[in-house]
Amino acid sequence: MSERGAPGGATSVRGIAAAVRSREATASSVVEETLERISAMDGELHCFHTVMAKEALASARALDATIAAGRDPGPLAGVPVALKDNICTKGTTTSCSSKILENWVPPYDATVVERLRDAGAVVVGKTNLDEFAMGSSTENSAFGPTRNPWDASRVPGGSSGGSAAAVAAGLVPLAYGSDTGGSIRQPASFCGIVGLKPTYGGVSRYGLVAFASSLDQIGPFACTVEDATLGLLAVAGHDPRDSTSIDREVEPLLDSLGGGVGGLRVGLIEEFAADVAPSCSGAARAAADALAAAGAKVGEVSIPEVRHGLPAYYVIAPAEASSNLARYDGVRYGLRVDAGDARTMNLRTRGAGFGAEVRRRIMIGTYALSAGYYDAYYGQAQRVRTLVVRAFERAYEDFDVLLAPMTPSEAFELGAKTANPLDMYVSDLCAVPSNLAGHPAMSVPFALGESGLPVGVQVLAPALREAAMLRAAAALEAAAPPGVRGPVKLAAAPAGAASDGGGE
Ligand code: GLN
Repeated sequence: MSERGAPGGATSVRGIAAAVRSREATASSVVEETLERISAMDGELHCFHTVMAKEALASARALDATIAAGRDPGPLAGVPVALKDNICTKGTTTSCSSKILENWVPPYDATVVERLRDAGAVVVGKTNLDEFAMGSSTENSAFGPTRNPWDASRVPGGSSGGSAAAVAAGLVPLAYGSDTGGSIRQPASFCGIVGLKPTYGGVSRYGLVAFASSLDQIGPFACTVEDATLGLLAVAGHDPRDSTSIDREVEPLLDSLGGGVGGLRVGLIEEFAADVAPSCSGAARAAADALAAAGAKVGEVSIPEVRHGLPAYYVIAPAEASSNLARYDGVRYGLRVDAGDARTMNLRTRGAGFGAEVRRRIMIGTYALSAGYYDAYYGQAQRVRTLVVRAFERAYEDFDVLLAPMTPSEAFELGAKTANPLDMYVSDLCAVPSNLAGHPAMSVPFALGESGLPVGVQVLAPALREAAMLRAAAALEAAAPPGVRGPVKLAAAPAGAASDGGGE
């Protein structure tokens, strides 16, 4: 049997779906090999909280029966996917990496899960994250960190670190995460893969456990721009169950990928260059040069307001979180620590169930929303948010897409930033402006840093302009030097074998 059960060793989303649809491979064989690979490799990496072996094999067999009966199995037939463990799966624990939801089993599927199943994809498991998606390294998980497949002493980024590492390690070709302030794009950059945050409202949030509702978006991770696009198309589009979902046809985005960048107006954001490592600013500049060489009209653009995004984000996101997390009261979901009266029960449950970072965010958010400080903190942050939105609007009068570094550094060592929360927050500097504006943005692997770790470049676009963003991303991918992207070639052996570099 060839790798992944598909002839020719197809490991791409497109390749697997084509092989399964044409009956060159069965969905069952693809899923069996995926499960074997996860059980061989995930011990050290800890991408997964739950591997849904039984359910996945049953879905694969059902798909094979559909195909044998001559019915259409869907565009992602037999493609194994992993889901961040804050996306609700009916009948399967959805823990948010929190003790408070450790044993919580949702009674319903998120809309993205329904859509993936309708498309023929097979959900194989739930992945590790920072507790309630609060963090940038996956170290805030109550169940232990995930490791970066390029170098097991490094973090995979976060908060969707499990999904990013699972794709980078070649365990699955497609995974989903949520991006509230960079949690898809930053781990994609650290793991040498593509990570895409859609326009706010582009993908339903129904069944995504809420962190900061005005910022949260679900999006895909994959090794290539094309596969990420297929992953986006499978879940995008209007959903009446999410009141912020955009009621609009999804564009046929695959057509954009071959479009080239001739005439595309590309602006390199100047501001972050001084704040990030030379490998990260250098990658963004090299990306700008590559797009110019491919025919884009490239210029530099100053958007000073983007540097104020980070402080505004770290008031708005905790404020919304403090409200959203009020529902974990020991009554409605998950953990309860009993006591003689309801208030003590509630306090004990929350004290025992939430980790340090989540408690910190709830306290910051509650403070920022309190009567005496609301205007000075929350009100002020909202005004800054408006300034960021307007600044982007001005920049997009002259440019179709923008480029920026994705992260201030390459993937850092486990433990390097856990002592000081502010150090961790600063990792999100380049990511949060797009969340504040509700714009699409993505990370494309484009360079290797000094330590041999991958470095992504960020492509930003105005709301609903995913097509232009993907044109630029596809051109960057074509121009990227070899060896900058996953999947990493891992030896199927335990500890220590995780860092033999990347491959195409
Ligand atoms: N790292 C950011 C935070 O800790 C973003 C998290 C996210 O996007 N979910 O809030």
